[in-house]
Amino acid sequence: MTDTILPFMIEASGLRGRLVRLDTVLDKILEAHGYLAPVAHLTGELATMAVMLGSMLKYDGVFTLQIQSEGVVKMLVGDFTSSGDLRACATLNNDQAATAELGRLLDKGYMAFTVDQGENTERYQGIVELRPGGLLESMQAYFTQSEQIRTGIRMAVAQVEGRWRGAAIMLQDMPEEGGVIAPEGPSISTEDDNWRRAMILLQTCADDELLSLSCSGEELLFRLFHEDGVRVFESRPVQKGCRCTMEKINGILSTMSPEDIDHMTDNGQITVTCEFCNHDFSFDPEAFGRNMN
Ligand SMILES: [Zn+2]
Repeated sequence: MTDTILPFMIEASGLRGRLVRLDTVLDKILEAHGYLAPVAHLTGELATMAVMLGSMLKYDGVFTLQIQSEGVVKMLVGDFTSSGDLRACATLNNDQAATAELGRLLDKGYMAFTVDQGENTERYQGIVELRPGGLLESMQAYFTQSEQIRTGIRMAVAQVEGRWRGAAIMLQDMPEEGGVIAPEGPSISTEDDNWRRAMILLQTCADDELLSLSCSGEELLFRLFHEDGVRVFESRPVQKGCRCTMEKINGILSTMSPEDIDHMTDNGQITVTCEFCNHDFSFDPEAFGRNMN
């Protein structure tokens, strides 16, 4: 029951939500990178949030969440596809990382996301300044500023028994999608009361409860919202997946200058490592017009 997205609805208020729980997938992604724990934690948060938000994709496509900062972490990228593939990586500011000031990982930056659902749909982008509280506070600020849909998120990422786990619950106020609506429509004050109540219940969920494998997603949601009735829909799996290919990297290399190709050549060959999955791709420099003699 891990590595899944579980959509649900609170019946009394019609609020929609999703529970994301990542275990093996997140651990595999973070373990492959070998980051220091604070960097792995941040990358885990970004990956969990990418799944949470990316699970809103309606058509085939990719949801990308990215952070750029002037802190120790220069860039964080995570993306999630409609077929359930997740990948994430971090790039550090090497000169700052050397001083090991890991307390200040993110500084003066922004968080951006893009929704790419193919040629026939419009690319959607959102951007928000990084808040001192980190990823969750920044994303919450984005929703408050720019979305008409009220959104509340609770998230936890931690190492449990030596393995990375991540989990998040998101609740959204989407009355047009159903719920119990009185003939004349719910009054604003009832809607606000429902929302406040749901937010209070959401905040009662402790980190270890969110991350616990001993209670299923259904049990967790029932525990939190049972007084208002919870309806759970079919869950969807999440797996570790990368979209790097020989062809894509070949395409990038073929745009490079002869000097850059020479610079990248080592022992007569070019090795490019995918920063997401650490897979090595080897190329012959002669394929890019360089004669090594
Ligand atoms: Zn890759």
